[in-house]
Amino acid sequence: MFCDLYYLSTPVFPPYSIGQGMMDRADRRPPFYICLTLTTTDLHPRAGHPSEQIKLLHGSLFDVKCIDLNEEDGEGCGWIQHDNFDDPFCPALAAAAEDVEPDKTLPLLDPDHELAEIPVSEIPKCPQCSNGLQRPGVVWFDESLDGNMLDAIDAWIKQDVVDIVLVIGTSAVVYPAAGYAGQARSGSTSVVTINLEAELPQNLAKLKKNDFAFAGDAAVLLPKLLEPVIGQPRKDGTYCG
Ligand SMILES: [Zn+2]
Repeated sequence: MFCDLYYLSTPVFPPYSIGQGMMDRADRRPPFYICLTLTTTDLHPRAGHPSEQIKLLHGSLFDVKCIDLNEEDGEGCGWIQHDNFDDPFCPALAAAAEDVEPDKTLPLLDPDHELAEIPVSEIPKCPQCSNGLQRPGVVWFDESLDGNMLDAIDAWIKQDVVDIVLVIGTSAVVYPAAGYAGQARSGSTSVVTINLEAELPQNLAKLKKNDFAFAGDAAVLLPKLLEPVIGQPRKDGTYCG
């Protein structure tokens, strides 16, 4: 259910739900929590988190932006389109949109399946400048994270004492995300780690006063840990707390 997910919460812990409770309080300013994630899908918006409180550190697969291959830095004209769910994105990428039967391998992911090279002419052009190409709005290797987003996260952390940091479904080794738990920590902050390796001796040795660690599948553990405040799940996936 969750992966690479960090929640940072200021003084008031959500009263009854990590999801619903957070969302119910979403109209308060400043936001009492933010969600940092390395996920590039739309998982968190679909879960109902307000977009301004989700920080997609590695960008979004559903954003499309301009890249200018003629420029040394590849920077395009600045055009960006949000929430593009076209599948396939364009005819040339139809292979990526194929559905496969269970237990079969998508040809695109089969190392024995030779892929035809896609000519640049078949990649959609930027509609704004007509020079650049359209590319996914994710952070590729060797690219920098969004500086404005990082500044906003730093400012949010500095604005007040952070009560609790939930590090969910990640071993927190990829920076800068891995550093946020430490950055947000103050004397009273609890860092709660939930992942398969959380209770290994070397990880337990890193715990500080007020910290907690729970080893296991976050999708299983998280509802149990929060059951006293969110209640039992209903059939429609909501909680009755
Ligand atoms: Zn452009």
